[in-house]
Amino acid sequence: MIVFDLLCSGGHRFEGWFGSSADFASQKERGLLSCPSCASTNIKRVPSATRANLGAEPPKPLKVPSAPNAPQQSGKTPDMEGKDAFAIAQMLYSRMLDELLTKSEDVGREFPAEARKIFYRESPERAIRGQATQEEHDELVGEGIPVARFPVPPKEGLN
Ligand SMILES: [Zn+2]
Repeated sequence: MIVFDLLCSGGHRFEGWFGSSADFASQKERGLLSCPSCASTNIKRVPSATRANLGAEPPKPLKVPSAPNAPQQSGKTPDMEGKDAFAIAQMLYSRMLDELLTKSEDVGREFPAEARKIFYRESPERAIRGQATQEEHDELVGEGIPVARFPVPPKEGLN
C-alpha cells in the first residue's frame, strides 16, 4: 500500500490509500475517487507534504569567514605611537645626541685645543666632544674648523 496526498477541486486535501499508482489512476478514471468533505470527484494527486520535506535541510546560515585583521600601520616605533610630531622630533634629537655622545671622545675643557689639533692633523682624526666657551667656539668657526654646538641637557655621567 502506498499513500497519496490528494486534492479536490474544492481545495480539500486528503489522503488516499492505493495498491499502486496504477490503482490510483484506475480508480480516478472510473470516478471512484471522491473528496470525503465535498464528494467532488475532481481529484488530483499532489506531492506529499511529508515526503517533500524529507531530506530537506533547513537553510544553513552562511559561514562568514572571519575577516583577517587589518594590517597594522608601520613606520612608527611603538614608543612613538600616539605622540605628536613635536614629541617625535624631540625623541629623534635625543637619540641623535645619545649616538653622538657615545661615539665621540670626551675631551672636556680641552675641546677647543683638541679640535684645532685634529683639524691641523696634529692629533688623530676622531670625533670628540667637550666644552667650549662662546668665544672659543667662534674662534674655531673662524678658523674653518667644523664644530657643532649642541645644547646638551645636564645629565649625570656626561661630563
Ligand atoms: Zn473537496
